[in-house]
Amino acid sequence: MTEQQHPNPQHPNPQQTRHPELREADPEIAALVAAEEQLQADTLRLIPSENYVSAAVLEATGTVLQNKYSEGYPGKRYYEGQQNIDQVETLAVERARALFGVDHANVQPYSGSPANLAVYLAFLKPGDTVLGMALPMGGHLTHGWGVSATGSWFNGVRYGVRADTGRTDLDQVRELALKERPKLIFCGGTAVPRTIDFAAFAEIAREVDAVLVADIAHIAGLVAGGAHPSPVGHADVISTTTHKTLRGPRGALLMSTAQHARALDRAVFPGLQGGPHNHTTAAVAVALKEASGPEFRAYAHQVVDNARELGEQLAARGFDLVSGGTDNHLLLIDLTGKDVPGKVAAKALDRAGIVVNHNTVPYDTRTPFDPSGIRIGTPSLTSRGIPRSAMAAVAAWIDRAVLAARSGDEDALAAVRAEVKELMDAHPAPGLPLG
Ligand SMILES: *Cc1c(COP(=O)(O)O)cnc(C)c1O
Repeated sequence: MTEQQHPNPQHPNPQQTRHPELREADPEIAALVAAEEQLQADTLRLIPSENYVSAAVLEATGTVLQNKYSEGYPGKRYYEGQQNIDQVETLAVERARALFGVDHANVQPYSGSPANLAVYLAFLKPGDTVLGMALPMGGHLTHGWGVSATGSWFNGVRYGVRADTGRTDLDQVRELALKERPKLIFCGGTAVPRTIDFAAFAEIAREVDAVLVADIAHIAGLVAGGAHPSPVGHADVISTTTHKTLRGPRGALLMSTAQHARALDRAVFPGLQGGPHNHTTAAVAVALKEASGPEFRAYAHQVVDNARELGEQLAARGFDLVSGGTDNHLLLIDLTGKDVPGKVAAKALDRAGIVVNHNTVPYDTRTPFDPSGIRIGTPSLTSRGIPRSAMAAVAAWIDRAVLAARSGDEDALAAVRAEVKELMDAHPAPGLPLG
């Protein structure tokens, strides 16, 4: 007997009480939202760029602030009626400055990719050279990769990781910088399991007179919570999304020294964007307030503890971790030795209630669409309060699912899924109405 068949008046099925207006106006979308709530409640979400925002952040995103047009910046708008909006944006800016300890913060970029594009606009002309980590080595598309505008409108030059250590090849970064004289250097990435040496990058950037951008999209929450060194004092510009480890709404921040404030602001607006998304700005402000408290500090450290433990547990089961482990929230796993392609493993894990993404590993012998690895991370499970002691079970589930992927054992996947659901039920996710 399920709740769905027999609604209990004391515990009404939340799917039937949430979003009443939406259900009335658009039952199709309402049903999909409810299904997604259920999915996020029931599954072990290990995609390292994802998280669960708090109910407060979620509420802020659904406010009437979204009805306002506010082109410009607080006190210098092109529209009237900004009495409240100016204060919302000022709060978000002040909180970002205080949390990260920076001179300047722009809270208007719509997301991480447009934030990075604004950096190009601020400092480069089309055809100028940018040095960034290659996408298949763990970099981001917007760091000058070919299929991105940043790699076709600018001259993208790419560094990688050392084949023997799986860690950023700083000798190669320096050699390329001296040879190519980039105007912009990006450090940071999307599949970098190790601490980023901001000081080493800063030294190289100084040597060639390049602007150094620390893209901390993945690790911003760890930086804010003191679980990863800060780029402040090393990088000229700091770019980050707000929705990954920082646990805010989908959005981005650009931060800098006072020297670059004007160039960045002008690049975001009017250079690249129109009106800011004020409801998002409000939710960013809420997330920044949450991230400045002691609980968030503990969260950031727990994310890293959980990732380290999960890495050790996986290594003990014969999994090959790129760079041998992790210093942060994510693990990149080369499945070549397990004889299962990354995509096959990821799809089997999904059927087992464990959500990951397939990923290239450095020096991958397979293709980007069918790579050798998977990428996993602990931000979401840590937001559910799942402790370090559960990482052995998580590693064992991953092991069983990957084995089952190879043998095509759907019963084994279903068994894992049931066990996963039990742990999820014991640790309700923030922001969700469901257990
Ligand atoms: C996620 C990410 C981005 C892009 O963010 P979007 O919000 O998806 O556009 C940029 N840089 C890095 C390093 C990222 O991980």
